[in-house]
Amino acid sequence: MIKERKVNITPDMTWRELTPGGVIQDAGNAEDFKTGDWRSMRPVWNTEKCKHCLLCWVVCPDNSIKVEDGKMTGIDYDHCKGCGVCTAQCKFGALDYVPEE
Ligand code: SF4
Ligand code: SF4
Repeated sequence: MIKERKVNITPDMTWRELTPGGVIQDAGNAEDFKTGDWRSMRPVWNTEKCKHCLLCWVVCPDNSIKVEDGKMTGIDYDHCKGCGVCTAQCKFGALDYVPEE
């Protein structure tokens, strides 16, 4: 069994400090990284059309719909991956889906 070893690989490390083969053993994750950087499309919220039904919050796989006091307050673009699921299910046309600039 391979022993897990968390290493933050930096340019000034020597070979003795690296993992065997220079393998990065930690998977990318939303806790350590702003996974929104990987996005090519983004949802854009139209506050005027929003009915605060929160269906978008239910379906978002990244928990990126911000909610306070039972109402939608925005989108966490640091972690939204732009999958478009929220825009597809919004029945009120309150979420546009546009290419990332
Ligand atoms: S699904 Fe649409 S209408 Fe409902 S809270 Fe989300 S953006 Fe607003
Ligand atoms: S595009 Fe995907 S990840 Fe981003 S807020 Fe909508 S459902 Fe969540």
